[in-house]
Amino acid sequence: MTEKIVVSGVSVDTRHWIGGRRVASAETFTDSSPIDGQPIGEIARGGPPEAAAAVAAARDAFPSWAATPRAERARILHAIADGVDKRVEELAIVETTDNGALLRSHRHGVMPRVAHNFRFFADWLLRLDHEDFDTRGHRNHVSWDPAGPCVLITPWNAPLMLATWKVAPALAAGNTVVLKPAEWSPLTASLLADIAAEAGLPAGVFNVVQGYGAEVGDALTSHPDVRRISFTGSVPTASRIAASAAANLTPLSLELGGKSPLLVFADADLELAVDLAVEQYDNAGQVCLAGTRLLVEESVAEEFTRRFVARADALRQGDPRDEATDIGPNIHPRQLEKIDGFVRRAVDAGARAVIGGHRRDGQFYAPTLLTDVAQDSEVVQEEVFGPVLTLQTFADEDEAVRLANDTRFGLAATLATGDPERAERVTAALVAGTVWVNCFFVRDLQAPFGGSRLSGVGREGGTWSFDFYCDLKNTVTAP
Ligand code: NAD
Repeated sequence: MTEKIVVSGVSVDTRHWIGGRRVASAETFTDSSPIDGQPIGEIARGGPPEAAAAVAAARDAFPSWAATPRAERARILHAIADGVDKRVEELAIVETTDNGALLRSHRHGVMPRVAHNFRFFADWLLRLDHEDFDTRGHRNHVSWDPAGPCVLITPWNAPLMLATWKVAPALAAGNTVVLKPAEWSPLTASLLADIAAEAGLPAGVFNVVQGYGAEVGDALTSHPDVRRISFTGSVPTASRIAASAAANLTPLSLELGGKSPLLVFADADLELAVDLAVEQYDNAGQVCLAGTRLLVEESVAEEFTRRFVARADALRQGDPRDEATDIGPNIHPRQLEKIDGFVRRAVDAGARAVIGGHRRDGQFYAPTLLTDVAQDSEVVQEEVFGPVLTLQTFADEDEAVRLANDTRFGLAATLATGDPERAERVTAALVAGTVWVNCFFVRDLQAPFGGSRLSGVGREGGTWSFDFYCDLKNTVTAP
């Protein structure tokens, strides 16, 4: 296999990163770009031997990294952040080539935030208290001990962002890591390995194993030396991982799919509501948090739809490297087929495509809005993960809440309303890990992030991340 490929002018190593060195596999898989469907390169295809080697490297490196003073761990994480900052342009173009998301968003938003992820968790670590309190003269001392080797498994829709939400707190906590990026977007994880090594992270503390989930994933998640598994991806994969982790009772964090509602009340600023609704097409609809179910109060539904269609029609779909593009391609022909299947079945069942409802040349799906959809229909209940929104109307607040909560998911909800008391009432009634009122996608790393119901198990962010990645210990000392 070719050890290094040049991706849009950037050299990327195609091998695994295990124990501080590059490791090839006999087999490879082809990584293609959603921009033109063309192959980018052959990537090492790991299996059980590579998984075992990576966990062994993480296990061997753990005692020394766990014993490294917090300030030193934080210093190295800051050095990684500096390395990311220096390579923002390279990371941005490689990520865009690999997963088709907008270059302007990678360049101005995502990659600078990847650097922020490392700085944030390094600084949070230094603020994490070792609590002390007395019980009948005995002193209780609570410490946040590193847990051990962690397996982190991530999807393709925001590869480096989602990976570093896990990698940064896991490393900060004193754990060692094996990261398995998605096979449709393997490249920036490899660049992160280079950056971490340059920043002085000791060998074996951070490892990257490439390959298909079914081949390398099970060997990672069933390994008895792994002390934490953090997974972002789909519900069916999460079930398999949970079953695989069960033998060793390995603690799990699961960030899964959604079918989030966006509620528009008649008292809302309608322009804002339309802005929020159009935003749901971001990343070609490949966003777990997307409010894909538009629920609009009857009295404003016609006007809302008119303005929405005008705005959606003006979106530019095309090459994600072009700064003027609003919507890029979808990740893979298989995903495109899946999206189209959802829409065709919905239309066959009586839905009307107000806009879109079809593919476009290349790997693109036209932004779609479906009306006349039944609450119990597949397109209302299942995650499409493409630029497909449904619109339903409601008569009053009770019906709005009922429709919003009538789902197996509970990741997020967005509401547009001009009435703060209504916002409070509705928010209290919604089942969702995050509720945005008159805004969308605002995320502070210190806030808990995660889903209820099938959308996940546990929360990431601030102290919640350390809660997961640490073994809390209480020491009671006699007077
Ligand atoms: P997926 O479940 O197919 O794959 C995710 C990862 O799991 C990939 O790295 C894959 O290789 C790996 N994997 C697959 N089978 C495995 C196995 N048996 N053992 C171990 N690993 C395995 O999901 P996807 O299609 O890549 O991602 C889309 C999904 O992710 C959507 O449902 C989306 O909503 C969800 N998502 C959730 C969040 C969140 O924070 N809640 C964020 C982004 C995406």
